[in-house]
Amino acid sequence: MNANRLTREVSFRGVGVHRGDICEVSVAPGPTGSGCWMERDGQRWPCLADSVVELERCTVLGNGQTSVSTVEHLFAALASFGVYDCEIRVDGSEIPILDGSALPFVEGLKPFLEPAPGPEPLVLQGPLWVGNEQSQVLALPSPVCRFQYALHYPGTVIGYQEASYEPLSESFEQKLAPARTFALEREVEWLRSQGLARGGSLDNALVVLADGFSSPLRLDQEMARHKCLDLVGDLYLLGRPLLAQVFAVKAGHRWHVELARKMLRELAENAG
Ligand SMILES: [Zn+2]
Repeated sequence: MNANRLTREVSFRGVGVHRGDICEVSVAPGPTGSGCWMERDGQRWPCLADSVVELERCTVLGNGQTSVSTVEHLFAALASFGVYDCEIRVDGSEIPILDGSALPFVEGLKPFLEPAPGPEPLVLQGPLWVGNEQSQVLALPSPVCRFQYALHYPGTVIGYQEASYEPLSESFEQKLAPARTFALEREVEWLRSQGLARGGSLDNALVVLADGFSSPLRLDQEMARHKCLDLVGDLYLLGRPLLAQVFAVKAGHRWHVELARKMLRELAENAG
């Protein structure tokens, strides 16, 4: 597996999509084997599935006293580089949304990496799944890692979409990183009426209109690719790379994180 460490601290600053205030995050190298930690207002917690405190429209990590929202796109970039030892310090309530994709994080971190040993991958021993009638995520043991996502928004211009990503043989930067956050126009109206998505704009989200999109697509199947990016980011909460095939159908953060929790529980049981 691709494993690197950061050679210096890298910072990102910009609006947070949910509250709309300016946030800053710095990602610094951590001691070898320390894992990834997040700090805000003097509180600190490990970036693992157990630190997830909320899953409404984005992944929120915290420790009961304070929290940080929208961690998934930064985590997807860190996962793609195999950076698992780092200290993330956040000034504000969210990780900046930047352009709504993981590309600014990839481009910002890429110049400051060097190969380094990383944690052993989590090797899935048997099938695991989570979900309900509408949404499913299935993970199967495999000698290679592969993420696959299927979406279906009948009656919209999204329609049916699929995307896949194999970390060992494909470029995250080209295949998933540019895919942007998206929302249906009617969802945007509802979110705004609830005082949510205050930092959302056409600069950081792709809005799905009745007859097209708010801006030209960067990639085909861009929505499925973005969901696949979210899945990669949420599975960073395993604290190590994954060796498995993961199939997600109409899922989301709630189920991605549920799968990560189940995998970590199983790992702990096998170890014990
Ligand atoms: Zn996302």
